[in-house]
Amino acid sequence: MIVVMKPGSTPNEVAHVVALVKELGLKEHVIVGEERTVIACVGNERFKELQRVETSPGVEKVVPILAPYKMASAESKKERSRIELITGRPETSIGGRRVGIIAGPCSVESRAQILEVAHAVKEAGAIGLRGGAFKPRTSPYAFQGMGIEGLKHLAEAREQTGLAIVTEVMSIDQIDAVCEYADVMQIGARNMQNYNLLSAVGEKRKPVLLKRGLSATLEEFLLAAEYIMARGNEKVMLCERGIRTFEEYVRNTLPLAVVPELQRVSHLPVVVDPSHGTGKSHLVPAMSRAAVAAGADGLIIESHEDPEHALTDGAQSVTPEVLARIVRECRRVAEAIDREV
Ligand code: PEP
Ligand code: MN
Repeated sequence: MIVVMKPGSTPNEVAHVVALVKELGLKEHVIVGEERTVIACVGNERFKELQRVETSPGVEKVVPILAPYKMASAESKKERSRIELITGRPETSIGGRRVGIIAGPCSVESRAQILEVAHAVKEAGAIGLRGGAFKPRTSPYAFQGMGIEGLKHLAEAREQTGLAIVTEVMSIDQIDAVCEYADVMQIGARNMQNYNLLSAVGEKRKPVLLKRGLSATLEEFLLAAEYIMARGNEKVMLCERGIRTFEEYVRNTLPLAVVPELQRVSHLPVVVDPSHGTGKSHLVPAMSRAAVAAGADGLIIESHEDPEHALTDGAQSVTPEVLARIVRECRRVAEAIDREV
């Protein structure tokens, strides 16, 4: 249920409603919008009882949220969410008029590698640097990432470039370290339904880039976002990274209709990953342009100075030169739909 306050309702009136909501044993999330405040009430459905609140001062109406995901639903928040990857730095936002580009290698491989590519992607127009320090590898014998040392190199890259750091957290015991060194916690596709991990990142206040599971439906994807938001962390970005199908000409199939559909049913920003979404570097420029045309709020692109020698995902990584060209082309596409890159 959501309690919609009247425009101009006072903080006291909001606090009064919050107290009534708590009395009913529901958990409240106060969402302060530009025009009005709404209070999302989640817990066991007690719509009839909550309707009494309609008589309280400052309340306009009480309406049920029909979607199973409450906090993530467009019903609970009319305006689209804008998330600052680094709090207080609006130029690092995803979800506004500007389409944010996050780029960098699949994995942090060395200090020199990440620093060099960080400067190059910044130059190309990125607002964020990606790079995995903890890697979810299909084979236990493959490179597993540099761990904490990799996180330290990422933090140094942020110091030098001002880029927001996006890196994967694979388990609960890695969360504190990732929050210490990075700005955005990435939840990988393989962990999208790791509910304990989702709840644990929900306890933090840093943004989360939630990747869609390889075979997750949109409803499962949004319920995964709900796990994070239900713990109080509302800074969730939904990332479409391709799904598994019968197709073999690509690593994954990238369904771009998901972008407008997620934006219809949810207020959360939608980011597209054309690298994992195709698995082929020659397909990345076209799918980046297509994602922007479809309305994506951000792109996350794997970029490596020397893709042929990349330790992970070289086949889908573009050089910084190609990245710069992608950004230039996406700028022109964005202009056509009244957005910017
Ligand atoms: C990655 O971003 O390098 C990664 C492993 O992504 P995904 O979880 O989408 O496979
Ligand atoms: Mn990768």
